[in-house]
Amino acid sequence: MAAREHGFAPLVFRLHGGAPQVVREVLLERGWEEHDEQKQEEGEWNLYWRTSAFRNSDYENVLPWQRLNHHPKMIHITRKDCLTRHLRRMKSAHGAAAYDFSPAAFILPNEYTKFLAAYIRNRTAGKPRYWICKPVDLSRGRGIFLFDNIRDLTYDSPVIIQRYISKPLLISGYKFDLRIYVCVKSFSPLIIYMHQEGLVRFATEKYNLVSLDNVYAHLTNTSINKFGLCYTTDKERVGRGCKWTMTKFRSFLHNQGVNERLLWRKISNIVTLTLLTAAPSIPSSPNCLELLGFDILIDTSFKPWLLEVNYSPALSLDCPADVTVKKGLINDIIDLMNYRMIDGFRQNGYLRRYMRSCTGCHYILTKIPPAFLLPKTSSAPRRWQNVCAKRKKQNITFPSTKTTISSRRKQTRIHHEQMSDVSHDEEINVEVESDDCELTTLRRVRESSRNVPSAVCKLPSLYVQNHKSPTAPYNRPSQDRSIPPSRVGDFILTFPFNEVTWKASRDDVGVKSVVHEIQKLTSRLASSSSDKERTNMDKRVAVRDRFEALLWGPKNPPLLSECCALKSP
Ligand code: ADP
Repeated sequence: MAAREHGFAPLVFRLHGGAPQVVREVLLERGWEEHDEQKQEEGEWNLYWRTSAFRNSDYENVLPWQRLNHHPKMIHITRKDCLTRHLRRMKSAHGAAAYDFSPAAFILPNEYTKFLAAYIRNRTAGKPRYWICKPVDLSRGRGIFLFDNIRDLTYDSPVIIQRYISKPLLISGYKFDLRIYVCVKSFSPLIIYMHQEGLVRFATEKYNLVSLDNVYAHLTNTSINKFGLCYTTDKERVGRGCKWTMTKFRSFLHNQGVNERLLWRKISNIVTLTLLTAAPSIPSSPNCLELLGFDILIDTSFKPWLLEVNYSPALSLDCPADVTVKKGLINDIIDLMNYRMIDGFRQNGYLRRYMRSCTGCHYILTKIPPAFLLPKTSSAPRRWQNVCAKRKKQNITFPSTKTTISSRRKQTRIHHEQMSDVSHDEEINVEVESDDCELTTLRRVRESSRNVPSAVCKLPSLYVQNHKSPTAPYNRPSQDRSIPPSRVGDFILTFPFNEVTWKASRDDVGVKSVVHEIQKLTSRLASSSSDKERTNMDKRVAVRDRFEALLWGPKNPPLLSECCALKSP
């Protein structure tokens, strides 16, 4: 509404049935309007948010200022069997040392014999081994059970059998895991943000290995524990319910004298190394963005383990911790999408001017809803004019009337190439996010993502300083504008984190060099011992890096270059 009062059209969101209510709430609070199918045209929206996957046509028809909340082909890491296969492949290609963060797993029925061999090996070695069986395509703890005797293994659909982490870190006897929110801004180049807030999800009955069938002691899913008898009781230290915010967990860690920085770094490594496995398989879709939920379990030796990656992390608000974390998360995602830039573009009539100065743009003009076409301004930036001039010189024209799908694809590709010539702060921008997926959804992902064009539309750059600036160093003017901002709200840029990884992320993701950089950084963090020493070092070794990456995790994230001498050679 406020937008209208000030004489410009408000941003419009479109929610698919089943999209989380918190998304609607946050967007309305921010002055957005919900798309009205009766009154508005089909394409008259800025953000389309779906819990399930988009159709191929959604990717094909997206307009430059529109964003979708899913990248195509995310199934590569969000389905348990696919993730297992990818991680295994990476382990053999890049070494077990780097990829040692996921428990050994077998995909059944195909790998039954392999599993049997591993099972027998453990038994004969006299090692007590517990296993967890999970359907490959279900979420929220459905169909999961534990066993230590193969006689108890039964399944009637594809499952993975994973080594059960039987010595989890406990808080007052309760098992917990971490739900880490990760936003993949782009897969090409790979750009990853991790949210500072997250959730700690507790089991509601005390942990023991005697009753393997007690889901309230072994599984930490809220969807299960909220039906537990102890859910509402005030549990020792944990309190009522089954969730903490990450802030609360940080203060718990602090009191334990843990090398927190190293733990955070290891978790962030898990996220990067996991996403690296999928990056080459995901088509470049600059109009999309993905919110993922990484489930991390910490064991008694403070080693973090990856349990799974959730395509659509639940965004329901079940308790106060949910409200704090999820509302902030959605707000930060919207900031990360950088609508201010695209909206400026729309509001200033650049689009109309750009279209007019190009030959034969009728097709695009007819696709643009009237609300987005604003009066021509007198001050179209010179660069836009240069782009158009260059375009004419190259004799590139758009079709003048109706086009077929294939010519439309060609057109968007041309458009993409044109826009690539524009400096970052003048480009067009577009993207999106996700929720829990079922088998049907997964099938649709697979089907819909088969023919996604490699480049839909070029977006205005994210690389502007649109993030909050609480304290230095987040807004240092020295930051190179081509580098993504190191912080947007509570989202911390975790990849790339230095010059080498930035280069690797653009050059078809050079996994080898990334793995090397990650290992180097982690061992440097591990070798700096006490927090006090590190603080002193922070002051001494404040290496000025063009790449001002922050360490994700701590409440006031320090610069990585301050934590260890990180500067690239
Ligand atoms: P879902 O998608 O159904 O939530 P998860 O893989 O996240 O499946 O498993 C559900 C819960 O089971 C986890 O939150 C965790 O508490 C427990 N769990 C899963 N895998 C393991 C494992 N390998 N070791 C210990 N606990 C596990």
